[in-house]
Amino acid sequence: MKKISILGSTGSIGTQTLDVIREHGDMQVVALSCGRNLSLIEKQAREFKPQFVSVSDENDAKKLRTRLADTDIEIGYGMDGLIKCATIEPCDIVVTAIVGMLGIRPTIAAIKAKKTIALANKETLVTAGHIIIPLAKEYGVSILPVDSEHSAIFQSLQGGQEKALHKILLTASGGPFRGKKREELQNIRVEDALKHPNWAMGRKITIDSSTMVNKGLEVIEAKWLFGVDVDQIQVVVQPQSIIHSMVEYKDGAVIAQLGTPDMKLPIQYALYYPERRFLPGDRLDFAALSQITFEKPDMETFYGLKLAYEAGRTGGSLPTVLNAANERAVAMFLDRKIKYLQIPEIIQACMEAHKNIPSPTVEEILKTEQATYEFIKNRW
Ligand code: NDP
Repeated sequence: MKKISILGSTGSIGTQTLDVIREHGDMQVVALSCGRNLSLIEKQAREFKPQFVSVSDENDAKKLRTRLADTDIEIGYGMDGLIKCATIEPCDIVVTAIVGMLGIRPTIAAIKAKKTIALANKETLVTAGHIIIPLAKEYGVSILPVDSEHSAIFQSLQGGQEKALHKILLTASGGPFRGKKREELQNIRVEDALKHPNWAMGRKITIDSSTMVNKGLEVIEAKWLFGVDVDQIQVVVQPQSIIHSMVEYKDGAVIAQLGTPDMKLPIQYALYYPERRFLPGDRLDFAALSQITFEKPDMETFYGLKLAYEAGRTGGSLPTVLNAANERAVAMFLDRKIKYLQIPEIIQACMEAHKNIPSPTVEEILKTEQATYEFIKNRW
């Protein structure tokens, strides 16, 4: 029986991972972790009976220990708790479904403990891909993508053709504001930006999809996962979200993965890889599907995507600045402290002010993150 640990089990990816596990009933959950959602993690702990559960805060850990006093589940907290979740024995797969750079240290620890990584936490690769990818190679660890586009690329690459890969065609829905110009985005409210046309996701990534910064982060994630230059990755807007991404081989052949927009497919593919299992849910009905259309992304209106290409091309600590500035700007927008169009403005100002470090260590990445937050605090 495969043993699994989930970092961020109460989130959108985490809960869907548990849905997949519940559906098949042949995996054992050994560790779970969350931020502050004690009621949900208690429920999950009672259902899946892991050995270890971690929360972010020490006081919450005390409360959870009291709530679960009738069980023998060990409770931890903070970064030590996350690292324990990532390295616990026995465990085969660690699902990294937390948000932000918080994922870097636990992912490194999991690789060193030789765990297979099912990676949803794209920020880890965006900011520390130059550390994570060589480390995974050194330890012989597989990193299996959970992000739907990267899973589609991975699925399209099955058959040992990676050497013949010419180009990645990364599809994007274009988000709720596709077709709009900058002037029309002046007064966008939080509620408008949280309405994704096709996917139900966490709040931060939903805003990132609307600004297309999410696609930019995915471009950098794909660069690391598939060992290509960012300029070999072309974003193609495909508003119906039917094609989840494609690869073009050297001979011009294009292979794509298609399906309904359901994160359970990439999650299940990563958990059971290379096995394919039955997945309940809607199927593509080509007779009912009226059309699949394509567009070029509008990089002038959604210039966060252009900034991400620039950060990915430059590398070093610049992707960390992009990611940290975006994270903070999105949080400020969600708190209604800034306007929608200030999100890319803030990212650009932070990137322009940054002195790039070519190959930053984890400490330098985390310092760059803090320096970016400071910069924003002093200016906005
Ligand atoms: P959510 O915001 O829904 O969930 C985040 C998870 O991280 C929650 O379990 C949350 O716990 C936990 N968490 C937050 N803060 C801390 C902390 N300080 N310590 C420990 N755990 C913490 O995010 P998503 O599931 O949407 O996204 C997770 C990752 O997956 C992101 O990197 C995202 O980019 C990526 N991704 C998501 C997709 C999606 O469809 N949602 C698609 C592709 C990639 P709590 O509930 O207690 O706050």
